[in-house]
Amino acid sequence: MFIGHIPAGYISTKTVFQILPHRYIENIRIQFAMFWGIFGSIFPDLDMFYFYLIDKKQHLHHGYWTHIPFYWLSIILLIFLIFIACGKRSQIIYLFVFSLNIFIHLFLDTIVGKIRWLYPFSSHDFVFFHVPACHNWWVWNFIFHWTFLFEIIIVATAFIIIIREYLGQNKSIIQIT
Ligand SMILES: [Zn+2]
Repeated sequence: MFIGHIPAGYISTKTVFQILPHRYIENIRIQFAMFWGIFGSIFPDLDMFYFYLIDKKQHLHHGYWTHIPFYWLSIILLIFLIFIACGKRSQIIYLFVFSLNIFIHLFLDTIVGKIRWLYPFSSHDFVFFHVPACHNWWVWNFIFHWTFLFEIIIVATAFIIIIREYLGQNKSIIQIT
């Protein structure tokens, strides 16, 4: 996925704060939570720096730990237990939106990318749709494939939410903030 991760992070974080009961979010700074949500939505792709600068494109970046659910599950569980032990309740909400967006990122990457959902039990690469290599530049293969419509829908949905909020029509969000 190329352009859909950040808008997906925005949409999911907004949705979380519309769904969660008020008692869970009364001490939460929405902008801070939005930062962690959007940060989580793109965090796995920060491995592209390692891919280009250090690994020199030797391995697919979806094979790094940053794109393997098992490692994220372990890290998140550990941080969650630390927060519970320290009684940091509001931080658990930030961890929740960050974690949710990590896994949304991995799910969206599974549409045309390869994610090892069952690692370490299996190294099988899960992918919903295979994109054929038809163009010289690999990026065109994905942009001109019909699955790119998913990205366009996500971006359009985020824009609609932003515009509705700007126009003051999204009253439920305004009440929370
Ligand atoms: Zn990714």
